[in-house]
Amino acid sequence: PIKQRLLVVANRLPVSAVRRGVDSWSLEISVKEFEARWIGWAGVNVPDEVGQKALTKALAEKRCIPVFLDEEIVHQYYNGYCNNILWPLFHYIDFRRKTDLRPPGVFSHSLRRARRQIKCLLMLLSNTTKRHSVYSLALPVKQPILVQSNSQADEFHLLLCVLAITLQFPIGIDSQRFTRALEVPQVQEHIKELKERFAGRKVMLGVDRLDMIKGIPQKILAFEKFLEENPDWHDKVVLLQIAVPTRTDVPEYQKLTSQVHEIVGRINGRFGTLTAVPIHHLDRSLDFHGLCALYAVTDVALVTSLRDGMNLVSYEFVACQDSKKGVLILSEFAGAAQSLGAGAILINPWNITEVAAAIGQALSMPVEEREKRHRHNFEHVTTHTAQQWAEFFVSELNDTVIEAQQRI
Ligand code: UDP
Repeated sequence: PIKQRLLVVANRLPVSAVRRGVDSWSLEISVKEFEARWIGWAGVNVPDEVGQKALTKALAEKRCIPVFLDEEIVHQYYNGYCNNILWPLFHYIDFRRKTDLRPPGVFSHSLRRARRQIKCLLMLLSNTTKRHSVYSLALPVKQPILVQSNSQADEFHLLLCVLAITLQFPIGIDSQRFTRALEVPQVQEHIKELKERFAGRKVMLGVDRLDMIKGIPQKILAFEKFLEENPDWHDKVVLLQIAVPTRTDVPEYQKLTSQVHEIVGRINGRFGTLTAVPIHHLDRSLDFHGLCALYAVTDVALVTSLRDGMNLVSYEFVACQDSKKGVLILSEFAGAAQSLGAGAILINPWNITEVAAAIGQALSMPVEEREKRHRHNFEHVTTHTAQQWAEFFVSELNDTVIEAQQRI
């Protein structure tokens, strides 16, 4: 039998590389040790040969092989092709129809050229691996979408296999990374500070990229409706919304930012007092530890995606809630609703009245019910992890390879 080796050809290597000197790099790897070799872009621009050599050497120890791309190609391919063409396509969004502000011919000549160049790189890799009968997968961060292999029949079979796996077995998180983080003294200190800061108030949390598919305006409008209908809650609840800037050069996203700011301003004006406001809205990201602390002090997490492949935030929240046992309000349009549906309160984010009612229900839910719901979710999140997903995926892939060999 042929000896199998697993090569993962990815858009980006699972590392963050920081340059420390002319020929020194520090690396942080974001996947657990796995019997695989990775090939992909290192996530940094390294124009000089000395830097490239040093990085290649450092990455070799992590079983990673970098592909160096110049900045313009990365911009065209990643921001242009992936973010503006592929991503909307997979989320059923057509920006071009809604706005005349886009430059003419979004799928422009330079974009095509960038995609071709990347594809050539992948084909080259695929040719060099052909002899060994190895499949190469182009994985974006979370879900495989493009498969290249030796023959068309195999390609078709593998594509079906990949589709079946991703549909049946959605990816999870490394839940222990979160539970461990909560033990770190700095994080505990931060949790203590947050608890003091919001003492006497229930904390509601939203963590999203500032993207139309996340339904942020819908979420905030539902919170406003809840406040309108429940004056008793005015000084007893606060909504913390972390809105991570994304695709800031696209006009649609700039419009969304102003729209959200306007609504937040109005609500804080209406319901705020001299000493407190109901919504803390941040246009920025938090680091991992900051995020864990926030998840841990939250009473109610609010996920209102109009469409979402999975929504990892809901999983991460659950992983950090083992002492608090807070409530998850979750959009039925998020992939996570399939797995966390029984523990969460499911809502249709377009239905503001329903979401406002869910907020009321979550805030006053008795502890026994919260515990029961949390137990369900926690059980799922800690047993359906990213590591298990990878193991399952590789074993299914192996079966496909064996079948293919039997056909030869
Ligand atoms: N995230 C982060 N810092 C922040 C906000 C979010 O690192 O300030 C991370 C979060 O932990 C999660 C990811 O961003 O892993 C968001 O993933 P999700 O599937 O929820 O949504 P996506 O942005 O991929 O659509």
